Amino acid sequence: MITQQQILQWLQTYATFIEQNKDYLTELDAAIGDADHGINMNRGFQKVANQLCSLTEKDISQIFKTVSMTLISSVGGASGALYGTFFLQASNAVTGLSELTPIDTAKLLETGLLGIKERGKANFGDKTMLDTLEPAINTFTNAISQGNNTLEALQKAVIAAEQGMKNTIPLIAKKGRATYLGERSIGHQDPGATSAYFLLKTFLEVIEKSQ
Ligand code: ADP
Ligand code: MG
Repeated sequence: MITQQQILQWLQTYATFIEQNKDYLTELDAAIGDADHGINMNRGFQKVANQLCSLTEKDISQIFKTVSMTLISSVGGASGALYGTFFLQASNAVTGLSELTPIDTAKLLETGLLGIKERGKANFGDKTMLDTLEPAINTFTNAISQGNNTLEALQKAVIAAEQGMKNTIPLIAKKGRATYLGERSIGHQDPGATSAYFLLKTFLEVIEKSQ
């Protein structure tokens, strides 16, 4: 079972990781976008981190709803709306829950992913965060349906996420600002695919630590 406390730890760990890597994310965005992805993500997740202490009595759905509202209201870029939608839909998938079974976790991730796809209208291979999230979350769900526990499934998902992130390097961008560059977007790793990899990687770190 994943507890409400582990979810709070994940969000704190991610906020810290984003702060430490904000220049890297911004450099990636400087190559194919407008050099603000690290700034956007850090602004949003520092606000999230500041709210975590007021969420200790809330269930997982309420926590994600607050994260969503905070990201949507404080992050200007496309990523704010997209990650905001991920957490909003994730919140709707776990209404009233303070603990998550492996199946609940799969449902949460799948529903969040669907939210991003519906909102951003991107497909796999368009050189976006979806190139990380889709293979990773599909891997997670498959692993759970084959009887893996949450930790095992997350380990496999993070490997798929890293591969998905790296696979964005040779792609031509088909969605978002990087499309302005056309073929010149080739050869650069997508910033959103990178922050999405960090999201799953920090989730795994928190679950590994509590074993
Ligand atoms: P902006 O592009 O508005 O400056 P950010 O720099 O914060 O916003 O985020 C850029 C990232 O958002 C991209 O690297 C890409 O992964 C992601 N992105 C952009 N548009 C879409 C979309 N339609 N669907 C999914 N992800 C997208
Ligand atoms: Mg940008």
